[in-house]
Amino acid sequence: MHVLVLNASYEPLQKVDLRHAIRMLVREVAVVEEAEEGRTIGTFPVPKVLRLVRYVAMRWRHGRRPPWSKRGVYLRDRGVCGYCGKRGHTIDHVVPQSRGGEDTWENTVLACGRCNNRKGDRTPQQAGLRLNVEPRVPRWDELVGH
Ligand SMILES: [Zn+2]
Repeated sequence: MHVLVLNASYEPLQKVDLRHAIRMLVREVAVVEEAEEGRTIGTFPVPKVLRLVRYVAMRWRHGRRPPWSKRGVYLRDRGVCGYCGKRGHTIDHVVPQSRGGEDTWENTVLACGRCNNRKGDRTPQQAGLRLNVEPRVPRWDELVGH
């Protein structure tokens, strides 16, 4: 179970696990903005959304690159195949892993099964596919799931 953490300005920052969330409450760095109805952990309501007591400047996060994850690619690409625009559920390596392509934001896009099959172990050019999105490092707020 994950808890959404908002900045003091109500801007979504990140998701943390419940234990982390409770620690933030114990340390009084965050307050409960929204809680599970009728559920408690010790003296705390089970939080769904926390808000930081003090504003965290965005700048400190700018230098930090979000770690790559499949779920992150899904969220960055909004569930849409980078080639055909249909719903996508698989991760495509633009430069295939067999050719040294890595799990990086710049080398992965979301793809539908059909495009992924068609592309196989080739680059988009070789497969005659056109990439309609630019694989990029996502902003942190894009990685907050819904
Ligand atoms: Zn597709």
